[in-house]
Amino acid sequence: ATILAIESSCDETSAAIVLNGTDMRSNVVASQIKSHMRFGGVVPEIASRHHVEQITQVIDLAMTEGDATWDDVDAVAVTQGPGLVGSLLIGITAAKTLAFAHQKPLIGVNHMAGHIYANQLVAPMDYPLLALVVSGGHTELVLMRGDNDFETIGDTRDDAVGEAYDKIGRVIGVPYPGGKIIDQMAHEGEDVYNYPRAMKGEDTLDFSFSGLKSAVINHMHNAKQKNEALDMNNVAASFQAAALDQLVGRTMRALELHPEIKHVLVAGGVAANKGLRTQLTAAIEAFDQEITLQFPPLSLCGDNAAMIGAAAESLYAQADFAPLGLDAKPGLSL
Ligand code: ATP
Ligand code: MG
Ligand code: FE
Repeated sequence: ATILAIESSCDETSAAIVLNGTDMRSNVVASQIKSHMRFGGVVPEIASRHHVEQITQVIDLAMTEGDATWDDVDAVAVTQGPGLVGSLLIGITAAKTLAFAHQKPLIGVNHMAGHIYANQLVAPMDYPLLALVVSGGHTELVLMRGDNDFETIGDTRDDAVGEAYDKIGRVIGVPYPGGKIIDQMAHEGEDVYNYPRAMKGEDTLDFSFSGLKSAVINHMHNAKQKNEALDMNNVAASFQAAALDQLVGRTMRALELHPEIKHVLVAGGVAANKGLRTQLTAAIEAFDQEITLQFPPLSLCGDNAAMIGAAAESLYAQADFAPLGLDAKPGLSL
């Protein structure tokens, strides 16, 4: 099918044309990062206003760049949640209006399913698979036995990993969102501080990042009080080493517990992390050469509508359509 997809769950306004869940014809992403940077995080009211200002142009551009007319479009897909309610509503309202005006079915898509399905724009999904979902608001291990069949086998008990990156970025004093810069700094430094490893000795697939976050903040605070200069690249490297230990360690434990899984996907903004790419690749190669590992291209790790179009295809195939009364679900889970 030819899907017009719309994503507005947080601070990017995006629209895309995706064919058959695999072929990305366009993917327009208008980022609002600059507007939120001076506040050190996303301000919901500002995000909603920007979505309103951008959404029509972004959709028009996605149609033009995707060389699609309304005759070509089979359905309109939109992120239903999770996300900021005011932001979600702008995309949902646009999608409903267009679906009604052009008499096309409407499809509500889970944003986190979208992050996982970004991988389908690279290669077909091969089930059963394990998805490591790492983003600004989520850190989960998800077992998929088929299309739209999600079993969360590991989850964070407190903060998401992307949230921890951004918090550390803020304390170190780099612009929001800090994840990418901390990743770069980590490569210039060394893991000399050996921050605590969460839930050490516990056999679990869950994650925790709040203890690590506090350890880094306390360490920096104590050094400052003692007028001791810390090398921020080493702080970033030590933080990243502890964070990646958890992500890689839990993924490998999940593969031990589920030997039937031969395919691993990584999804979400933190999938762009260079250290994660290197370490997970090495760990899986050492564990079992038959297991394939896939990361989305960098341009599809963060929020975008093409991933929503990819996830919508199997819902379209099952005629799993949403009523025109579709509501935002800010706390939607997989
Ligand atoms: P969610 O998808 O859970 O609703 P979100 O949409 O805000 O949350 P994403 O857009 O998927 O999250 O990802 C953004 C996050 O990814 C931010 O926390 C950002 O700092 C982080 N990030 C981006 N690049 C990197 C990187 N190279 N290393 C670590 N973190 C990164
Ligand atoms: Mg974002
Ligand atoms: Fe996201």
